Amino acid sequence: MAENGTIENGQPEKASPALPHPITHLEVKYTKIFINNEWHPSESGRKFATYNPATGAKICDVEEADKADVDKAVEAARAAGQRGSTWRKMDVSSRGQLLNKLADLIDRDRVLLASMETMDTGKPFLQSFFVDLDGCIKTLRYYAGWADKIHGKTMPVDDNFVCFTKHEPIGVCGAIIPWNFPLLMFMWKIAPALCCGNTVVIKPAEQTPLTALHTAALIKEAGFPPGVVNILPGFGPTAGAAISNHMDIDKVAFTGSTDVGKLIKEAAARSNLKRVTLELGGKNPCIVYGDADLQLAVQEAQHGAFFNQGQCCTAASRVFVEEQVYEEFIKRSVENAKKLVAGDPLDARTSHGPQIDQKQFDKIMELIESGKREGAKLECGGCAIGDRGLFIQPTIFSGVKDHMRIAKEEIFGPVQCIFKFKSQEEVVKRANSTEYGLAAAVFTRSMDRALSVSSALQSGTVWVNCYNALHAQAPFGGYKMSGNGRELGEYALAEYSEVKAVTIKLTEKLY
Ligand code: NAP
Ligand code: MG
Repeated sequence: MAENGTIENGQPEKASPALPHPITHLEVKYTKIFINNEWHPSESGRKFATYNPATGAKICDVEEADKADVDKAVEAARAAGQRGSTWRKMDVSSRGQLLNKLADLIDRDRVLLASMETMDTGKPFLQSFFVDLDGCIKTLRYYAGWADKIHGKTMPVDDNFVCFTKHEPIGVCGAIIPWNFPLLMFMWKIAPALCCGNTVVIKPAEQTPLTALHTAALIKEAGFPPGVVNILPGFGPTAGAAISNHMDIDKVAFTGSTDVGKLIKEAAARSNLKRVTLELGGKNPCIVYGDADLQLAVQEAQHGAFFNQGQCCTAASRVFVEEQVYEEFIKRSVENAKKLVAGDPLDARTSHGPQIDQKQFDKIMELIESGKREGAKLECGGCAIGDRGLFIQPTIFSGVKDHMRIAKEEIFGPVQCIFKFKSQEEVVKRANSTEYGLAAAVFTRSMDRALSVSSALQSGTVWVNCYNALHAQAPFGGYKMSGNGRELGEYALAEYSEVKAVTIKLTEKLY
């Protein structure tokens, strides 16, 4: 299945000795539910299997959490966060030190965690090592720095009062994680939650529970008090629903599909009106103007479309190209797509892995077929790779029209859809005509144009002359049906804190 050829994004043709080497025969040590810094079997006695999507082979069985286990975890998290507990009494700068210590341990185990993430998700090892693990460590260190800088304000009222605010932890925070960036999304949730002094009950995705469980052992080793972080591998409709419906969870943060996001919000409303933050889908426009650095635009737009096998909420799934460079953009994009190398994700030469599971594979193939049927022009790809497994060829459609399913639905696979546009007004209108509003990109040499188009685009993130440029410092989240609230940056602190206003009447008269 593997083809020879150069590897995308500046990686060398042969694995260099300087590059990290994955662990190919990994022993999975942690497969149980993590509550109170201890390992527990499931209350039901059930387990479920996790598979390697590159081979279809079972990796191991994991304990399957359900409502009874969630109840136990919430009790532990509540006790760990109550006033007078070790966690609540801890000097806030020590919280930051614990987050930094966890970052150190993740760095120590980086090769192991990257190998495990690759085995469980199928993403290329070098991506796991350099992108995902790097993001995890940076997120932890960023929030470690915030732990002792979460200040309230003093408000001027009149001379008879002193009025100030305190930012307090919300309490027990639930988190439900997807399979596309299992460890990174785990860190995006726990780092700000812990930095603000909360405790956490977290469910990894059923397809990818392993790196979260290894991290549980590191959380204990770092010295977090028991019950501060509790990890429950399990299924969405059981363990996930138990979190979103729980009467004693104060907030839930979710990343995943828009449909499940609606269920989470509904469950929160029906139970205890817990706070909800949602990071959902996208159908992200990437606008390439005739004056852009075309080679840069080709590479970045394609990285946006095919990175992580297209399994990204930020995927550049609608590329609008100005008519004078449209043909050239397609030609270069096809040349570029053919350089991707599909194969064993643990091999450093591989730049394109399998999709996560059969359900996602079938959904993507069905959408590719709809594109062919509805009259888009298939420029390359369009088929599965090999006769077994979950690999799909990097696929490019040109001549895509706004009414087609591939133009409207989130594909979540390696499919780049290219549209032609003529005028600025037209392209902004078409870019915004979607229920989503997660990310967008503009490629142009005119900063004036870049800034006015950025203002007109309805999305939580706009990249100019780059794509997927995510940083722990910058807020991330969606307009419209792409979500509620923001992750990362200083903005995420507000999603994990309650604000208390304290007003004091002064009785001493000094005048
Ligand atoms: P999903 O069902 O939304 O999965 C995300 C998380 O939600 C998983 O942990 C899942 O558990 C959990 N979940 C599922 N049903 C739940 C419920 N009723 N209550 C509480 N939690 C629940 O996503 P998917 O089915 O794996 O993928 C479907 C589509 O979602 C993709 O094609 C893509 O369009 C979108 N998606 C988006 C992102 C993103 O980054 N925004 C990530 C993944 C998927 P299980 O593990 O048991 O499913
Ligand atoms: Mg699911």
